[in-house]
This record gives sequence, C-alpha cells and structure tokens, in this order.
Amino acid sequence: MTSVLWFRRDLRLGDHPALHEAAGDGPVAALFVLDPALLEPSGAPRVAFLYRSLRALDEDLRSHGGQLVVRRGDPVKVVPEVAKEVGASSVHVSADFGPYGRTRDEAVEESLGDVRLVRTGSPYAVAPGRLTKKDGEVYKVYTPYHRAWKEHGWRKPATPIASRVDWHTGLNGIDIPGDPALPEGMDLPDAGEDAARKAWTKYHDGGLGGYGNDRDRPDLDRTSRMSMYLKWGAIHPRTILADLGPGDETYRGEIAWRDFYATILATWPESAREYFQPELATMEYAPADGAAFEAWTQGRTGFPIVDAGMRQLLALGWMHNRLRMIVASFLVKDLHIEWQHGARHFMKHLVDGDLASNQHGWQWTAGTGTDAAPYFRVFNPITQGQKFDPQGDYVRRWIPELLNVPGKAVHTPWELDAPPVDYPEPIVDHKKERLVALERYQAARAGRSSS
Ligand code: FAD
Repeated sequence: MTSVLWFRRDLRLGDHPALHEAAGDGPVAALFVLDPALLEPSGAPRVAFLYRSLRALDEDLRSHGGQLVVRRGDPVKVVPEVAKEVGASSVHVSADFGPYGRTRDEAVEESLGDVRLVRTGSPYAVAPGRLTKKDGEVYKVYTPYHRAWKEHGWRKPATPIASRVDWHTGLNGIDIPGDPALPEGMDLPDAGEDAARKAWTKYHDGGLGGYGNDRDRPDLDRTSRMSMYLKWGAIHPRTILADLGPGDETYRGEIAWRDFYATILATWPESAREYFQPELATMEYAPADGAAFEAWTQGRTGFPIVDAGMRQLLALGWMHNRLRMIVASFLVKDLHIEWQHGARHFMKHLVDGDLASNQHGWQWTAGTGTDAAPYFRVFNPITQGQKFDPQGDYVRRWIPELLNVPGKAVHTPWELDAPPVDYPEPIVDHKKERLVALERYQAARAGRSSS
C-alpha cells in the first residue's frame, strides 16, 4: 500500500531510516508542508536555505522517478488530506523532539485517525530518551552524558535505497517559493544533500586534522560549517561520525553537545524560554529596547571582537562558536540584558538556528543553564579578542573602520594616538559592568534585590 513520507528536518535520501520503513509498505509519496507557524519566526537566510534544500531534494527525487509534493498550511489538516488522496495506511517521519514538533506530531497523529504515524530515526546520533543514568534520571551535566554517549554508541548509516523505491507521483502541490530577499551581498553555501556530502568530504580530507587545536580561532576559520546542513538534515550526524577516527575526539564531542542539548530541551521543553536555573530569573536586568541592545545587534558596541562577531552574523547568517560565546556573554553580563532577547536575535539571523543548541548555548554562556559554567565566570571582551584572534585578522575582516590598525592593537582602538573617527568608543566600561553583574548575581542567589 502507498505510504506518505513526510519530510521535516531530514531533507535527504541517503542514510534515512524512515524512508526504509516507508518503502517497506509499498509506493512512497514524498511530502513537505510549509508550516506558517515555523516559517514566520525564521529570518530570510534560514528560509532561503530551506527553500534551496527543498529544491535540491525535489531534484534528487526526480532523478529517481519521484517528486516532492509541497503544500502550505497547518500539518494537522494537510497531512491527513494527502494521506487520504493517496489512500495511505501510514505516514512515516523521522521523530521530532522539539517542543513545537512533538505537540504538532501528537495532533497530526490524532487527526490521522486510522492511518498510522510511524516515527523511525531522528536528527540525532543518540536520540533523546535513549540515555539515562542508572537511576533513570536524564543527564543534566555534559561530561557524564558525553561518557555515556560514547559507551552507548550509534548505528551505522542506513544503506542507500532511493533508486529502488517505487515513488508515487501525480499529486498536486505548490511550487517551492522563490527565495525571500537576502541581506545585500549574502552568499549562502550550496544547499542539499549532495552539497552537504561534498562539504563534509572536503572538510574531512582537509580541515578536520587541525580542528582540535584551532577550533577556537575565528581568524583561522577551521570549523566545519556543517551546522546548516545538520539543521535541515541534509546529512545525518551518524554519517559524519562514521567517518571520524580515534584522533577526532574533539569533533566527536561537538556532535555529542548537539545530542545533549536536544535531550535537555526534550526533557524540559519550557527551558526554550525559561531559566534552567530558576533562581537567576529574579536577577535585575536592563530592558532590551534601548540604544545598547541596538548597538549590540548592529555590531557597534566599540568592542571590536564583539562587533566583528555580530557583523559576521548579519553578513553570513553564521557566526563562529567562540564568537557566539563572547557576544552572548557581553549582552548578558556587560549590558545586563536577558539571554532570551539575544537568543531571539540569533534565531532570526542564523541559517543554522536550532532551538535546542541556540537556547542552551545562550543559557550556558549566561551561566543560567546546564553544566558547570558558573555565572561569575565573565568573558573579558578584550582579552578574549587578544587570545583567540592574536593578530587581529578576524576583526579587520569584519570591521572596515579598523582595517588600517595593525596587529593586535585592533582590539583596543581607544588606546591609539588617533583612534578611527568612524568607529564607536566602548559603550560600557567592562571592569565596572563585570562588578555590577557579579553583585546582581550574588543578590539573586541570596534572594534579595541589588538596588
Ligand atoms: P563545528 O565546530 O565544526 O562543529 C561540528 C558540529 O557540532 C556543528 O555543526 C554542530 O552541529 C555541533 N556543535 C558544535 N558546537 C556545538 C555546541 N556548542 N552546541 C551544540 N552543537 C554544537 N549551533 C547550532 O547548530 N544552531 C544554533 O542555533 C546555535 N546557537 C548557538 C548559540 C550560542 C550562544 C552558542 C554559544 C552556541 C550555539 N550553537 C548553535 C553551537 C555552535 O556555535 C555551532 O553549532 C557552531 O558554531 C556551528 O559551526 P560549525 O558547523 O562550523 O561547528
């Protein structure tokens, strides 16, 4: 009998367990639903990358005699309609563990009635729920999670079957929309499974060797940039893990972080918005509607490493991990603005914007999340720049106003005899704001007001 394969964050044909299950039932109709609830909060770069990924998937399907049917609307209505049109007795998906996805899937399951919703596989190497401590509790701390994750292991990539599938064609759908307007000059990487595999092979054969030593150096740019592909499932993390050797422990550990945060969010869905450590919600914060927040979003705080990161985000829809930590710490601990505002800005601009990694990356840096990143460890935006961009090349790449400032002097332009006139002076005094942050933190811990 025909079944429906409803694609979501698994926009590929290789290493796709749900496709195996669907093909076992008979002919397969491939569906993607443009869900306004998910599209509306996403910025143009992520939506454009999604549309390009869908076009690439459709092309791949056509090369195997199939087609991608795209419909727009609430999946609770659309998925049962499509199932009915093809006379399906089952709809196959890769499981979604996000707060919205899980609720949506339960609602779709109900609206499908007698048609089964079959969840096979997930976007993770070790899916949420698989790993627990001996007492059945979920790991809240990364290090023991990581140890257990390695011991647990993961399956081998599924064998490719797309060319053997009996694809169902003939369903009506809408055209994949044209890309929304991107910021001027933004050049997104090629999208789709083929591009993802090529990018991974190139990185594996080239940059991966230097990852352990250089991953924290934004000037050297030695990370893999696989996050955009992982976001939409153009490649599965298992495919990546299968290529790693014993010397690639650091990289493997990053894939574990992704699984870890997905597990945390799946277990505590409210942590997408609320403080993982609730006592810190009572801290005194500044409003996010003033000039300081605006300066942060535009990369005009007067702290070159912060501004370079924020400008990289606006220009590429991507930011280096070290910079994500630096700019997040600056927003929360120098400007005293709550992490949720920064997280929302990131989710709007990041092509790889992923609720679990983003919200928990923010909470971790803010010192309100999982793990032992205590609040009182405040990033110094000057020494971070000097340490991780020692010659200032990264800053000069993103801040043209500082192009003529040589070497690491670029991290402290206010100390120059003639500071560049078109670059702002620091909007805060880091030493002072650090003390303010610590005082507010102590007050929140002690349950008193700091004012
Ligand atoms: P690489 O260093 O090459 O790492 C390989 C892969 O490992 C990444 O593609 C990613 O899937 C995973 N990974 C690496 N670091 C982390 C991490 N700290 N947490 C979870 N997974 C990780 N990652 C996202 O994918 N989406 C987000 O929205 C996101 N928001 C973040 C917000 C903040 C404040 C912070 C501190 C981190 C955030 N990260 C996010 C994690 C990390 O910064 C990015 O995954 C990484 O920069 C992507 O670049 P890359 O693919 O070159 O990474």
